[in-house]
Amino acid sequence: MTASQKSRIAIVTGGGSGIGLAIGRRLAADGNPVALFDRDGDSAKAAAAQIESEGGTAIGVPVDVTDRAAIDAGVDEVKTRLGAPQILVNSAGVTIAGPALEVTREVWDTVHAVNLTGTFDCCQAVLPHMIDSGWGRIVNISSSSAHSGVAGMSAYVSSKSAVIGLTKSLALEFSKHGITVNTIPPGFIDTPMMRDHAGQGLISVEDQIARTPVGRVGTAEDIATTTSFLVSDGASYITGQVIGVNGGRNT
Ligand code: NAP
Repeated sequence: MTASQKSRIAIVTGGGSGIGLAIGRRLAADGNPVALFDRDGDSAKAAAAQIESEGGTAIGVPVDVTDRAAIDAGVDEVKTRLGAPQILVNSAGVTIAGPALEVTREVWDTVHAVNLTGTFDCCQAVLPHMIDSGWGRIVNISSSSAHSGVAGMSAYVSSKSAVIGLTKSLALEFSKHGITVNTIPPGFIDTPMMRDHAGQGLISVEDQIARTPVGRVGTAEDIATTTSFLVSDGASYITGQVIGVNGGRNT
């Protein structure tokens, strides 16, 4: 942390795995106490223990982002144990693939409940604390699939496209409070989610690399590095933006 960079309390949803875990580790390494929210409380606590073993300050909190009461209780726990949150990263997400004609209302609602409504509810729960302190940073993890569309992923892509619109709207509404809201749509990132898709034959790693100009799969740390910048004091003039981290696949 530089002398001009203050330590802030951060919440990272989906912090027990993949991109969320890498972001939690990076924000903690930057000097911020971090609360990891995940529906899998064990993975959130194991991730927090890993961060503490690396010298950071972290707590793991079991929170399913589709449960508004659990979000509010989680934010209260963060306030009590760490302090008022000023950074929120929404990384919790699910993918359920399938042909559009076979998408059930249940699948549609589940995907939107996590990816879109969960993101909105976490923003709504944390924003009052940011307003109180006159400073805040929100980074919503969307998806590069929202640039292009993907056959067979209509529910997922529509939920992530809506996260981009949500991000722009919140940015306009809360900029007067010193709060920035941006979104990172990752490209093809090596995480348990991506490996699960490859294992199911939904994607081919070789094909994805061939479509990526920089010639490699992205890492969760690639996303964490960009997040670290967006939540810094120095990024105060960047809000409502879609910051692609995708190896050049979408320009
Ligand atoms: P991941 O390794 O599966 O991590 C996602 C985490 O979110 C998991 O720990 C998951 O728990 C958790 N989660 C799911 N539903 C939740 C809920 N209702 N409440 C709280 N936590 C929940 O996947 P990832 O690749 O890191 O994905 C992180 C974000 O990046 C997602 O929003 C994803 O859509 C987005 N993204 C990823 C890629 C990529 O290539 N990896 C590309 C574009 C966008 P469980 O393990 O219990 O499900």
